[in-house]
Amino acid sequence: MRINTNKIAFVTSAADDRGFVESDLPQVVFAGRSNVGKSSVLNSLSRRKNLARVGKTPGKTVHVNFFDADRKLLWVDLPGYGYAKVSFEEKKRWAKLIEGYFRKTGTIALGILIVDARHEPTDLDREMLAYFRAAGIPTAVVANKSDKLKKSEYAGAIAAIARALDVPEEAVLLYSAETHEGRDALFHMIENVCGEEDNA
Ligand code: GDP
Repeated sequence: MRINTNKIAFVTSAADDRGFVESDLPQVVFAGRSNVGKSSVLNSLSRRKNLARVGKTPGKTVHVNFFDADRKLLWVDLPGYGYAKVSFEEKKRWAKLIEGYFRKTGTIALGILIVDARHEPTDLDREMLAYFRAAGIPTAVVANKSDKLKKSEYAGAIAAIARALDVPEEAVLLYSAETHEGRDALFHMIENVCGEEDNA
């Protein structure tokens, strides 16, 4: 399936499960710690400056954002997690929202867990991955901010992330929302979630 990046559009932002988009389209879900660069990766992937808002106050946006990708996929941006200063109430709201999403949603074709290429994934990253696994969703790990690493550090970073998340190294893709390294590979992975039959 080909996705025209000019036809990726914001649909809605849901603060609770009444706002979730009901759609038959397969969904690609993006998750990650707040400030990991999830919005920047969405902008990079869609070749847009402002599809998703970058640098919002961390932890202030406990919303699920929905994007229509060329009427072929629904891209779902889950709220970032792990911002230390978030209140207990907000954390509870986050968990309720995520659980509601996994319970109510249609077909999730691909889960994309975004981590920081420079750091070991956290317990919360492992928990997020556990949500994907429990729901039986194929998952790719995107190690963002690769521009902050030297090329000589790439292999070690991939190995450390794969080990910490208990995934094969091949499942970890280095990415930079600044230089767009990894963009074509991730975009193709997303395009191919529903099969490669009409890729002509
Ligand atoms: P979000 O909270 O996960 O949506 O993160 P944002 O997209 O708002 O990015 C958080 C900060 O990291 C911003 O200052 C971005 O400019 C920066 N950032 C995001 N991606 C990259 C990247 O690939 N490389 C570098 N160097 N900075 C990045």
